[in-house]
Amino acid sequence: MSIRTLTLLFSFPLVAAAQTPSAASHTYVIRAAHLIDGKSDVVQSNVAVIVEGERIVAVGPQAEMASRIPAGAQTIDLGGATILPGLIDNHTHVLLQGDITSADYDEQLLKESIPYRAIRATAAVRASLMNGFTAIRDLETEGAMYADVDVKTAIARGVIPGPRMFVSTRALSTTGTYPLLGYSWELKMPEGVQIVDGPEDVRKAVREEAKYGADWIKFYADRRYYVATDGRLRSWVNFTDEELKMLVSEAHRLGKKVAAHAMGWDGIDAALRAGVNSIEHGDGLTDDLLDRMVAQKVYWCPTIFVGVYVAPGRGGIWPKMVDLERIAFGKALKKGVMISYGTDVGGYAWTENQAQEFAYMVRYGMSPMAAIKSATSVAAQLLDQSDNFGTIEAGKLADIVAVKGDPIADISELTRVSFVMKGGTIYKQ
Ligand SMILES: [Zn+2]
Repeated sequence: MSIRTLTLLFSFPLVAAAQTPSAASHTYVIRAAHLIDGKSDVVQSNVAVIVEGERIVAVGPQAEMASRIPAGAQTIDLGGATILPGLIDNHTHVLLQGDITSADYDEQLLKESIPYRAIRATAAVRASLMNGFTAIRDLETEGAMYADVDVKTAIARGVIPGPRMFVSTRALSTTGTYPLLGYSWELKMPEGVQIVDGPEDVRKAVREEAKYGADWIKFYADRRYYVATDGRLRSWVNFTDEELKMLVSEAHRLGKKVAAHAMGWDGIDAALRAGVNSIEHGDGLTDDLLDRMVAQKVYWCPTIFVGVYVAPGRGGIWPKMVDLERIAFGKALKKGVMISYGTDVGGYAWTENQAQEFAYMVRYGMSPMAAIKSATSVAAQLLDQSDNFGTIEAGKLADIVAVKGDPIADISELTRVSFVMKGGTIYKQ
C-alpha cells in the first residue's frame, strides 16, 4: 500500500470502523452546485438531497427542497462540487493484489495463507470505498475459496468499511486450463479456480457455490489467445457445450446470473451460445458477436485499463489485444451494446485508483455522461439492483459521492472523489 493511500485512510474523520449499518439513523440535507443523477443526461444545478436513515427521501432544486427539510436535519454543504450516485465496479478481485506475470500470481497462492489474503482484502475494499465505489461485483477469489463471502459479511455487519459486495466465490474451469500450472506432477498444487469436468461435476459445483453464498457464477470460457490470418483474436475453449449448457441452466435455475471470462472469438461465441449474462474482457469481439450480444441483451465489462497495465509486462500478444479491444469498443458503442463499468482491479495493484478506467472509455469514444451511467445506472441493472441504487432518486439507498470539479469536462475528476456516503453513513468528507 502506498504512503498516499495510507494518508487518505487515516485522514477521514467521520468513519467509525465498527460502525454498524443501523447507526445510519441521521437525517442529512446535502447541498451542491451540480448533480448528475445517473439517469438524466442533464447536469442539474443548485440541488439538495434529503437523506433519512439509509435512503434518499427527496431530491430537487434547493429552493423547492427548503420547505421539506425535516427538523433536526444536518446540513452538508458541498459548495461547488458535483454529486453523483455511488460508483459501481462490476469486475473486481479483492483477494488478489496484482498479477502482471504468472510468477506474481503463483507467489500469492503459494506463499500467502487465505486468512492473510482476506486481511489484505479488507484494505482493498476500504480503498475501493474511499475511491467512491459503493458497490462492487467481485469476480472470483483466485484460490481463496469462499473468503469473499466473509469479506462481504464483515462489510454488511459494519465490522469493516467497504462497498456493497456481490460475490462469485470460486470461478469454474476445467482440468489443466487454469493456474497453477507447470509444476512437477509429484506436487499437489493449489488451484486458482474450482476444477470441474463433465456436466454432473458442473452441476454439483454450481450448487455448492450457491450454498456457500455465491451471488453470481463465474467461469473461464477460454485461454491461449492468438490472432488468426483473418485478423480475428481467436482462443481455445475450456468447456464442452454440454458442460456450459449445464452451468448456465443450473445457475439460472438457482436464481444466479453468470459471468464469463471470454477474451477470444471462440470463447465469446461459446459463452453466448450457452446464454451467459455478461462477457468479461471481450477483447476479440467482432461485429457478428456484438450483434448477438445486443439481441441476447448480454452486458459487456471491457476492463480496458488492466489490459493496458499488464500488456508491457506480459508482452507477446497482449499489446495487440489492447488494440483489438479499442476497435471492438468503438463498434460496440455504435451498435448500442450495454457496457458496464468493470476494471479487474486486483489484476492490477489496489494502490491504483480503479476510477482510471473512465478515461480509457472516454478516449475510446464514449461520452463522459455515458461512462458515468455505465458505472451507475447501467451497472446497477446488471446487478438487478436498479430499485436500490445506481441513481440519485427518492426511495433509493443513499449511496452518494462527490467530486470538486466537473467530471463532464474532465472525466479524470472521478479519480479524486472527495465525499463518500453509503446507505446514509458518511465515510469520507
Ligand atoms: Zn478478472
